[in-house]
Amino acid sequence: MVFVRDPGRSDTIIIGGGPAGLSCAIQCSLPGRRTLVLEKTEACGKKLLITGSGQCNLTHAGDIRDFPRHYGVNGKFLKPALSAWTNRDLCSFFATYGVPLETEADGKVFPRSRRSRDVLHVLLQACREKGTEIRCGEPVSSVNREKEVFRVDTSQGRYYSHHLVIATGGASYPATGSSGDGYRFAASLTHTLVPPAPALTPVYIDPFPLADLAGISFPGMVFTIWRENRKVAGCRGDVLITHTGLSGPGILDNSRSMLAGDEIRLSFVGGVPPDTCAREIVSGIPGQGFRNVASLLARYRIPSRVLDRLLELSGIDPHLSCAHLPAEKRKRIVASLTAFPLTISGLGDFTTAMVTRGGVALHDVTARTMESRHMNNLFFAGEVLDIDGDTGGYNLQAAFSTGWLAGTSIRNRLLPP
Ligand SMILES: Cc1cc2nc3c(=O)[nH]c(=O)nc-3n(C[C@H](O)[C@H](O)[C@H](O)COP(=O)(O)OP(=O)(O)OC[C@H]3O[C@@H](n4cnc5c(N)ncnc54)[C@H](O)[C@@H]3O)c2cc1C
Repeated sequence: MVFVRDPGRSDTIIIGGGPAGLSCAIQCSLPGRRTLVLEKTEACGKKLLITGSGQCNLTHAGDIRDFPRHYGVNGKFLKPALSAWTNRDLCSFFATYGVPLETEADGKVFPRSRRSRDVLHVLLQACREKGTEIRCGEPVSSVNREKEVFRVDTSQGRYYSHHLVIATGGASYPATGSSGDGYRFAASLTHTLVPPAPALTPVYIDPFPLADLAGISFPGMVFTIWRENRKVAGCRGDVLITHTGLSGPGILDNSRSMLAGDEIRLSFVGGVPPDTCAREIVSGIPGQGFRNVASLLARYRIPSRVLDRLLELSGIDPHLSCAHLPAEKRKRIVASLTAFPLTISGLGDFTTAMVTRGGVALHDVTARTMESRHMNNLFFAGEVLDIDGDTGGYNLQAAFSTGWLAGTSIRNRLLPP
């Protein structure tokens, strides 16, 4: 099957029907031009449908100028894309298509209906209106460049196009279709890859002394990450105890700084330094010798099951009266409350990671257009790039914005001057 028989004719093939591929298609589908989206699975947007637990946290309401810092060191690359299609542009786009969005207290933006399928429906409707051709269940197996034309081979045939967009996503949650194929295509077209690795992952701790406290969470917890006794990061964020370790936005967002073998030190006292904590404890004792240790520590509002466990692990009976709390025991309590150490035995793999870090190296791509620096008319968009963002809507905004920018760049070439 041949999509464009005349290689001189301007048209576009987009590999991948996720948020990046579809937003690109919406921008570059023009009357009289053929734009084809080739999607591997039987339907577009499988990953989009499971985002935000099916509710789709599609962007964040913060100032767009503040977005880049949410993508680690590579955030700067995204500036042109984020200003080409901002979070406000995204909100107006969906509202225009009858899907108004609303913002939660923490700035996360969701469709008011809380249904990710409404978001996908808008993207597909816009593609339909623009005349985009979408072929599902057609995995691309290889891409090649023949003179000025791209040859794209799928399970069902061979296609040619003048522009090619690789929007195949990362390698996480491979059951949704994104299993890293785009990396292979990029490499075959001589692009550099930053080794892909799971990101936004929970951490595993084995043995985990808090496992039976699974489900308890700590909003805005302060914690530090240590490697070979050197502090590598200081963090604050919501932390959730799971049966196997730690999760929650604070852990997921900072997992990019963690390695197996690192130590996480949790502060159960909001980051109060050890000497301050020690002073606070001592100041609570005079005249209160009859009180037990647990009630002395009530000021820190630590859930009682957690506090009992921390004391137990420090070898201290929570019912011990303050009168019997010597300096050495106080020291142990302070250490547990301010820097409770847990050694990371492993991080989540691609089946549990929400996104992929690494991917197509950014120095091979022009940030203003999303075009390859090595090969004209080849574009990249979305998670296939070496971009990974924090939780909170940053990953979808990056996928939409880079897709939109790639589509705009192609559109500008297709339109008569
Ligand atoms: C459980 C979960 C929850 C998430 N929740 C959020 C959230 O609430 N907010 C947020 O901002 N981000 C969230 N993310 C991240 C977000 O979903 C991704 O960053 C985003 O979908 C990336 O978009 P993309 O278009 O680049 O890639 P994808 O959405 O992965 O789409 C790529 C598409 O390319 C197709 N494809 C791959 N290989 C081929 C091939 N060889 N031939 C043809 N097609 C191919 C795939 O089938 C897929 O449809 C979540 C991720 C997960 C896993």
